[in-house]
Amino acid sequence: MKIGKTYHQHPFKTPTYDAIIIGSGIGGLSVAAILAKAGKKVLVLEQHYEIGGYTHTFKRKGYEWDVGLHYVGDVHIEGTVLHKAFQYITDGQLKWAAMPKVYDKAVFGNQVYEFVSGRTSLKTQLKKYFPSEKDGKSIDAYFELLKEVRQLNSNYYIEKALPPILSKITGKFLRKGLLKYANQTTLSVLKGLTDNPKLIGVLTAQYGDYGLPPAQSSFYMHAMLANHYMDGAAFPVGGAGSIARTIVPVIEERSGAVLFNATVRQILVENNKAVGVKMADGNEIFAKTIISDAGAINTFLKLLPKETIEKHQFNNSLKKLQPAAAHIGLYIGIKAAAKKLELPKNNFWLFPDAYDHDELQAAYTHLDATLPVAYISFPSAKDPSWESRYPDRATIEVITLIPYEWFAQWEGTTWKKRDENYEQLKEKLAQQLLAQLFRVLPQLKDKIDYYELSTPLSTEKFTHHPKGAIYGIAHTPERFQQRLLSATTPVKNLYLTGQDVVIASIGGGLMGGIVAASAILKRNMFNQIWKH
Ligand SMILES: Cc1cc2nc3c(=O)[nH]c(=O)nc-3n(C[C@H](O)[C@H](O)[C@H](O)COP(=O)(O)OP(=O)(O)OC[C@H]3O[C@@H](n4cnc5c(N)ncnc54)[C@H](O)[C@@H]3O)c2cc1C
Repeated sequence: MKIGKTYHQHPFKTPTYDAIIIGSGIGGLSVAAILAKAGKKVLVLEQHYEIGGYTHTFKRKGYEWDVGLHYVGDVHIEGTVLHKAFQYITDGQLKWAAMPKVYDKAVFGNQVYEFVSGRTSLKTQLKKYFPSEKDGKSIDAYFELLKEVRQLNSNYYIEKALPPILSKITGKFLRKGLLKYANQTTLSVLKGLTDNPKLIGVLTAQYGDYGLPPAQSSFYMHAMLANHYMDGAAFPVGGAGSIARTIVPVIEERSGAVLFNATVRQILVENNKAVGVKMADGNEIFAKTIISDAGAINTFLKLLPKETIEKHQFNNSLKKLQPAAAHIGLYIGIKAAAKKLELPKNNFWLFPDAYDHDELQAAYTHLDATLPVAYISFPSAKDPSWESRYPDRATIEVITLIPYEWFAQWEGTTWKKRDENYEQLKEKLAQQLLAQLFRVLPQLKDKIDYYELSTPLSTEKFTHHPKGAIYGIAHTPERFQQRLLSATTPVKNLYLTGQDVVIASIGGGLMGGIVAASAILKRNMFNQIWKH
């Protein structure tokens, strides 16, 4: 059943919404659900014809694929903030299926390194792989650092919910501890612990989860990701679409509405106060509170009126920041059950026989260059409900990061109507990703029934993220210095939610939603969620 309702049939005759939320990603739906549960009447407006942002799924030829969720940490462990938060915003309806103890396998050439869940287990495993590493002391020190970073989060979140004036006064103190790590690159911190390039390569093998190799990424992001998966990972029962499917009723049952095909063209501002939105069809909808899940670049540089952008010099604030990486995704369908095909539940991170991720990324400048990384996920094997929903069908997703510029010449062209050169480029890339799949599962060579490649242009079309950015603003040290990336904004009654508030990921986007709800309700909603 379709999630949400279509914008064009919605009766706007009594437009009495307390809050309008632009975008229905996890950042938008989570803040909407929390506000709805606090008694507010909310309206979520989504430009796509599907609700969910990067958690939406799509169907083709009898298959279904997830686009932006392959595994999530902490959610399967009772008592964690993420577990409680998902319980809260779905009224306990969303279920998670834990992945196996080894949830990620990193393959460098022929050498396999297993990411095993559990702090002690992972530490032991790494010491086995690197027995000569300073008697294990550098590995111990790495785990201590991860712990230290985790403890800095609460101040960071509090600061993101403060009004700009208060943040100016107390923000420096609240951010101090965190900036010590956020301001350093992952590589510089790891080099302080070890001079073993193989160990650094393995510790950062999951860098695709935040899109930047170690010399470019902030150590804070790396540490958050490593902590996030420390106790393994899980997959939503029913696929990523279950997220919107279980949150939307929580909103609708409380007189809220979640509408698709609803493109917001502009945020309406009067005397530096957000008062409503203007839709693509010219309709104006008003509310006391406007919340944007459309990302910082869209919100501050595209959706606000020109005078507001100039008044606050948003261009200046954002000019040092880049959109995150772009990607291509190969969606594969096979006419056989995952069990029969012996598809694994773990993901793969595949690399050539080389451990310097920065060097590999820098050399990836043309189509025949070595692929720096490929990520493989087997959603039909992870989801326990898959077999009953799609009997005798299996799906696989293969992804790599790719420079957006390779596709820039087709900017402005129409989806599904691009020229022959574009199709040829896509086919060549699809074959490269298939070759990566066959590297680890050669038995699938003659089994592929269907495949389709998405490019950064597809991502841009369906999510509006500039340059097909998959993680919002790139997670460089500079990102963490930029105060504009907060739930509260310099425009009164305008709030930001989602991955640009705290960090990218499903969990990060959800944290952004809780921070935004806390700022709007002027209550610490983490406490409320914790106690419920
Ligand atoms: C390929 C890929 C794989 C990923 N894998 C994982 C993973 O395994 N685990 C994990 O934790 N995270 C993963 N992520 C990251 C995670 O999906 C995102 O960080 C998170 O979902 C972002 O949520 P959000 O709400 O901030 O933004 P989004 O989900 O992007 O939502 C923003 C919404 O705003 C809408 N919008 C934009 N402009 C307008 C407008 N003008 N009017 C109306 N609507 C508008 C968009 O259409 C979109 O639906 C992955 C991402 C990608 C792309």
